[in-house]
Amino acid sequence: MDQKRMEQFGKRLETRRQELRRSVTHKQQSGRTLDDSLAPDVIDRAASTYAKDFLFRQSTNERHLLEMVEDSLGRVRDGSFGQCLSCGEGINSKRLEAVPWTRYCIACQEKIERAS
Ligand SMILES: [Zn+2]
Repeated sequence: MDQKRMEQFGKRLETRRQELRRSVTHKQQSGRTLDDSLAPDVIDRAASTYAKDFLFRQSTNERHLLEMVEDSLGRVRDGSFGQCLSCGEGINSKRLEAVPWTRYCIACQEKIERAS
């Protein structure tokens, strides 16, 4: 992949990273706010547990995505961005356009998904 394209992907990943960081921080704060609010009865407590659980699962997904975005930024820096981590082949450019933090080419991704 040429330098210019890699930089474009780098910018997109950087933007995504900032969004995710903001969102993860926001959810952590919301979770804490729920902790602090005293639930006056059982129904409210159940609702607040549910809301916390929901926030927790969402922020777990986002943290996971954030890690992948940060990994990809590392690969932009060391110049290996766009290569499959498993077979080393170049990842299809449409796939990268859609999911720039992807780690594997389609063939390897399918293999991994079948194996798990
Ligand atoms: Zn591959």
